[in-house]
Amino acid sequence: MQLLYPFAKRFIAGQDLPTALKSIKGLNHSGFLSTVDILGENTRSAEEAENAKREYLDLLKKIEDVSWPLDLSIKVTQMGLDIDPDLCKNNIREILQSAKHHSVRFDIEGSDYTQRTLDLSRELHETYKNLGQAVQAYLFRTERDVEDLVQRGISVRLCKGAYKEPPNVAYQSMDDIRKNFRSLMFLLLKEGFIPAIATHDEILIRDALSFIKAENIDPKTFYFEMLYGVRRDLQKQLLKEGYQVRIYVPFGKSWLPYTLRRLAERKENIMFVVKGLFRETFGLGKLN
Ligand SMILES: Cc1cc2nc3c(=O)[nH]c(=O)nc-3n(C[C@H](O)[C@H](O)[C@H](O)COP(=O)(O)OP(=O)(O)OC[C@H]3O[C@@H](n4cnc5c(N)ncnc54)[C@H](O)[C@@H]3O)c2cc1C
Repeated sequence: MQLLYPFAKRFIAGQDLPTALKSIKGLNHSGFLSTVDILGENTRSAEEAENAKREYLDLLKKIEDVSWPLDLSIKVTQMGLDIDPDLCKNNIREILQSAKHHSVRFDIEGSDYTQRTLDLSRELHETYKNLGQAVQAYLFRTERDVEDLVQRGISVRLCKGAYKEPPNVAYQSMDDIRKNFRSLMFLLLKEGFIPAIATHDEILIRDALSFIKAENIDPKTFYFEMLYGVRRDLQKQLLKEGYQVRIYVPFGKSWLPYTLRRLAERKENIMFVVKGLFRETFGLGKLN
């Protein structure tokens, strides 16, 4: 699988913290905010979950001097949900206690985890107001979840959803997913607590911009959020137009599952990898 690393490099900000911090500081220098994600999911032992927590605590130590707010994304399965829910909760608590002026957000994983993830974010948000939650527009249940999160004042990041879900739980066509995304996005822009609109879909971004103008929504009350290495043109354009743009910056050694999800999203990405491997194998990349 190391063969895929050249491709992964397009989507991740390195395998270690110093390299990732360079990217985060560079992004900030250009006017972008960052969501930092230490890659990892589905840990299989308490020790692995403990290590994942330590990595976040180390990160928080290293960013003590960072004056602008960072959003830290974590996965509940990375913190040990499959091993022991109490262990998972305690690991996350420690991170939240150390986060201070930075915020923490639960990524949203496959639908088997949705209920447990949301239960945990509701419970922990009672104490830690800097905890936010991501949701997926492709799930039927998300409309109800968003209404509840908005009522509780929990900050929501809205994305389409990156996992393969069956037709009894999720919309399957892009039209339906967009339709649901659009109505949830409008609700969040109007009533949500500092929501993040996480998409590179130009149709949805255009709809968001029209809505924001029509409803006179203050650009400081929400973020556009995009993935590191994806549609940098759009990222810059929105920033230039005066919007807050946050870049989701993943880094770490467990880059494979994340990279495979990005790969699956675009058939052009698969061609890019195949061409790269072909060039490497047959030496076609040489300049002379
Ligand atoms: C900030 C952020 C956080 C996210 N967090 C989660 C999460 O917690 N849980 C979850 O399930 N999903 C998450 N996602 C992924 C999301 O669910 C989608 O899978 C992903 O964003 C692609 O959907 P899209 O809305 O960008 O639209 P698409 O219609 O897929 O893409 C629109 C355009 O963006 C570009 N693009 C999109 N993806 C790629 C790619 N991989 N490579 C190259 N170009 C691409 C292309 O130009 C494409 O035409 C997150 C996405 C973002 C932006």
